[in-house]
Amino acid sequence: MFEPRYYKNLGLEDICHKVAEGERLTISDGERLFACPDINAVGSLAHHVRTRLHGNSAYYVVNRHINYSNICVNGCRFCAFSRKKGDPLSFELSEDEILDKIRAGGNGLTEAHIVGGCHPDLALAFFEDLVRKIRGTKPDVFIKAFTAVEIAHFAKNEGTSVKDVLARLKSAGVQMLPGGGAEVFSARVRELLCPEKLDGEGWLDVMRQAHEIGIKTNATMLYGHIETVRERLDHMAALRELQDRTGGFVCFIPLTFQPANTVLSHLPPATGVDDLKTIAVSRLMLDNIAHVKAYWVMLSVKLAQAALYFGADDFDGTVVEEKIGHMAGAESQQGMTCREIERTIRDAGLEPVERDSLFRKVFRNPASEGRLSGSPDFVWLNYD
Ligand code: SF4
Repeated sequence: MFEPRYYKNLGLEDICHKVAEGERLTISDGERLFACPDINAVGSLAHHVRTRLHGNSAYYVVNRHINYSNICVNGCRFCAFSRKKGDPLSFELSEDEILDKIRAGGNGLTEAHIVGGCHPDLALAFFEDLVRKIRGTKPDVFIKAFTAVEIAHFAKNEGTSVKDVLARLKSAGVQMLPGGGAEVFSARVRELLCPEKLDGEGWLDVMRQAHEIGIKTNATMLYGHIETVRERLDHMAALRELQDRTGGFVCFIPLTFQPANTVLSHLPPATGVDDLKTIAVSRLMLDNIAHVKAYWVMLSVKLAQAALYFGADDFDGTVVEEKIGHMAGAESQQGMTCREIERTIRDAGLEPVERDSLFRKVFRNPASEGRLSGSPDFVWLNYD
């Protein structure tokens, strides 16, 4: 399908040429791709780029999601996860409960993904101590913790700077920030949906500062609510611009909005075609971010599998226990085993590659003692 003649009939011949030559697409190119009714044509362009970058590989990670609390001072209208303090459905895990979840991951676990609401009372010292204890309990587990929104909240609560919070958490053992909280950067959308939350410029600034002190991060975009196509593309362009300056984004994660149990439950969810097109256009626009994720929790396993042919190269991971998407009505299972993920990827005709948080290949070595070692490009560990 990746034939200039085919794209000529769709009026996309120039975009096909740019993709073939590795040239950067403009926002107007992105708008034309979103407007194209031929989903296979858009998907083929994205698959071409994805294959050029990653060949036949599709990545996954053995991770565990831990939500330390859903108590949050904000009230984002798209959020079904947060609760106010004292609400019967609020929760707050103790340090021991969190450490038990980390231990339960066994030696096979390579990533702890830790996020929560913007808690009014938990001090930064609590999180520093928690991270140090996780590091002491499982030195080989990569700690990916706290969104840019949480980092800015910690700074505000402590009366200190974002730079200080990042430095203290890095020194405690945080190795990477997840990409959540970006939503769409549009001030119009944020004013309507999450006026109390850190704004788009603030989110980008936290990430810039993290990148500058050597903390890599991911980036997300929540789509399929009240945003326009142009606002999606502006969001991607802002990420691309920061990535040109810092190179600190590892993976882009388009998150399809789950309306159930939110103030926006009257909105229909994005269609499968919109999901696939958004992933494909993300792959094409974000020419300087190496990886695009098909997050099976939000997409469903079956659509995420198809997305591997629409520009996505990563399937995320085992997850084990997911709350944020499921409280908003995600119908996927809570977690997947490595075997299930590998089967799903193989069945799509691709090669499953286990990775760590930074997309370094993981080789399982039963002869090791469960410790990570090796060069920065290769990691060995014991497989429980
Ligand atoms: S999206 Fe995050 S910041 Fe907003 S209410 Fe939910 S937990 Fe709080």
